Amino acid sequence: MKAYQTNAMTTDYYDITIIGGGPVGMALALILRNSGISTLLLEARGLPKQAPDPRPLALAHGSRLILQRLGVWEKLPDTTPITTIHISNRGCFGRTILTTRDAAVPALGYVVNYHDLFRTMYETLQDYQADYLAGINVTHFEISDDRGQVQFHYGKEEKKVNTKLLVFADGGRLAERIEDISYSTHDYQQWAIVANIKAKTSQSGVAYERFTPSGPIALLPSEDGFSLVWTLTPLVAKEVLALDDAKFLTLLHSHFGDRLGEFTQAGKRSGFPLSLRYATPITSRRIALIGNAAQTLHPVAGQGLNLGLRDAWGLGSEILTSITDMNEIGTPIMLSKYRQRRQIDSNAGRIFTDSLVKLFSNNHALIRNTCGLGLSALDCLPPLKQFVARRMIFGARN
Ligand SMILES: Cc1cc2nc3c(=O)[nH]c(=O)nc-3n(C[C@H](O)[C@H](O)[C@H](O)COP(=O)(O)OP(=O)(O)OC[C@H]3O[C@@H](n4cnc5c(N)ncnc54)[C@H](O)[C@@H]3O)c2cc1C
Repeated sequence: MKAYQTNAMTTDYYDITIIGGGPVGMALALILRNSGISTLLLEARGLPKQAPDPRPLALAHGSRLILQRLGVWEKLPDTTPITTIHISNRGCFGRTILTTRDAAVPALGYVVNYHDLFRTMYETLQDYQADYLAGINVTHFEISDDRGQVQFHYGKEEKKVNTKLLVFADGGRLAERIEDISYSTHDYQQWAIVANIKAKTSQSGVAYERFTPSGPIALLPSEDGFSLVWTLTPLVAKEVLALDDAKFLTLLHSHFGDRLGEFTQAGKRSGFPLSLRYATPITSRRIALIGNAAQTLHPVAGQGLNLGLRDAWGLGSEILTSITDMNEIGTPIMLSKYRQRRQIDSNAGRIFTDSLVKLFSNNHALIRNTCGLGLSALDCLPPLKQFVARRMIFGARN
């Protein structure tokens, strides 16, 4: 096993400083590798092996293309393709089935483990000897017209780094303090329980998204079983997390239905509180937001990281086009191009996931039946299905 190590800081001035080395921050650092643009990545968490994150990620074909270009995809230890998505509404008629034919791609998406992705991206950055500091919690930043500055503890020293552009890829924790950016938040009053599950019926490549009044439940194909993302109210989620394996599996079976027969094995369970949170605008003086710092979405339809990777790609492309005149990096013109480039895709992703959750997570018979009707109509209209499938895979383009 490769030893994790943090590359040293080579200077106290960088063209780009990225706060937050989650998958989106790391993607931006990889996009800028070998470009001649100096980049520093600062990550608060310890090294990857010390902080495993259990969430499964459904990555769209478009994200695979990005990760391939970054030299990450081929190194991922496990990527389970999704060839069919079965979408239904519990207790109501109506369902739709999306297949690879609807989107003309080899797979609608791939299930990847967050921890594997984190570790693989980290190792790829190490191969490029990127300036990456782990265990650095940035607590202070300052901005002026011509530069940004971050401060943090580096060993026993207090460090100050000046930069042309400060990128917040921190999930929004520190970005909250930026003066002229405001966050809108909606607490869904839902938690997602994630776990690895095995079922009596084994299937390859089929993902299930089932809407229920307490929230959606997704079973994503993963190796020889499934990755579960089960949304419940916070109170019920806490009770479900406390159940032993046998009771948990019986409850899951009664909730999901008999499509896969009995569930036979459950791995460790973890819970994530869910809310919608998005920034307006996503840039400020010498500042750009990407990934969850720009928008944190409900995991329904697996859009969050896919959108975040497209943010990183969009910002990286704008930075790289400034390469002929490095003074352009971080200017209002460059930042406004990034903002405009991401506007439609980001709004569409947010409105799509938020509407799905609000429409389908309710007990009103009329609304539930109308949603069921909508799913059936979608199933009968191939052009609309193709539109939805391609939107989910590639996002909305300007
Ligand atoms: C249960 C669940 C299931 C999901 N499933 C999917 C899915 O199927 N498909 C999909 O596309 N998305 C999915 N998502 C969403 C996806 O996980 C996020 O969109 C993605 O992780 C965002 O990546 P990020 O790098 O922007 O932020 P994060 O992953 O939150 O990383 C932010 C990083 O910033 C660091 N940081 C924070 N503050 C500081 C600071 N002050 N200084 C330095 N570093 C800091 C943190 O340590 C962290 O490593 C899911 C989310 C959940 C909760």
